[in-house]
Amino acid sequence: MDLLQVRNVSKTYGSGEAAVHALKRVCFTVPKGEFVAVVGESGSGKSTLLNIIGALDTPTSGRVFLDGQDIFSMKERNLTVFRRRNIGFIFQSFNLVPELTVEQNLVFPLLLDHQKPDRRYLEELLTVLGLKERRRHLPSQLSGGQQQRVAIGRALITRPALILADEPTGNLDTRNTSEVITLLKEASRLYEQTIVMITHSRSIAQSADRILQVSDGVVTDFGRCRE
Ligand code: ADP
Ligand code: MG
Repeated sequence: MDLLQVRNVSKTYGSGEAAVHALKRVCFTVPKGEFVAVVGESGSGKSTLLNIIGALDTPTSGRVFLDGQDIFSMKERNLTVFRRRNIGFIFQSFNLVPELTVEQNLVFPLLLDHQKPDRRYLEELLTVLGLKERRRHLPSQLSGGQQQRVAIGRALITRPALILADEPTGNLDTRNTSEVITLLKEASRLYEQTIVMITHSRSIAQSADRILQVSDGVVTDFGRCRE
């Protein structure tokens, strides 16, 4: 089953002379459980594509289906809840809440959704992420690699069907990079999650199930959109 369907998605920023066609009729599908690496030059439209898939930005035209749901046909409030429950985001800058501890940052998406954390799953995540001893620390007391592991935990805590990552290892050294990637792949295998990850790293891309090449707003290796 396809978890994600991107149909004829275009995105234009600005208008007239200043218009930037960031995405031009992009079509592809991702089956449930697949780990997809998105590669392409800077400015080619990768982040725009990821933000639209995650409903952080809206397409100028086209549709995105997640688990059969046409996400841009949903009302804003429903979409916010749907996004929180079904999509986990990981960014290059870890975006942790500085005043909250590791554990509080991890469960933050659940609190926003007025849900109680599943203690067993929380303990499991802390163990898998190697953060058990750091649970009461603040982000400022952690290394970059540890902070990114918290951000991964925060993306996983809701058990989302889809994980979107925009250069998650961009700020990490080689050792932390491979650790983070191994963790993500392990999590997606354990919990049958689908991952779409933008990366500059050739070796990360090569370890993915599939590589999506973006060039100048076009996904080049999937042929054209079928009408
Ligand atoms: P990538 O992530 O591959 O580096 P982006 O998706 O960030 O590329 O950007 C694609 C193109 O869209 C670039 O030309 C960029 O300048 C432009 N762009 C991105 N976001 C905006 C925005 N909010 N307003 C105007 N132009 C934008
Ligand atoms: Mg980008």
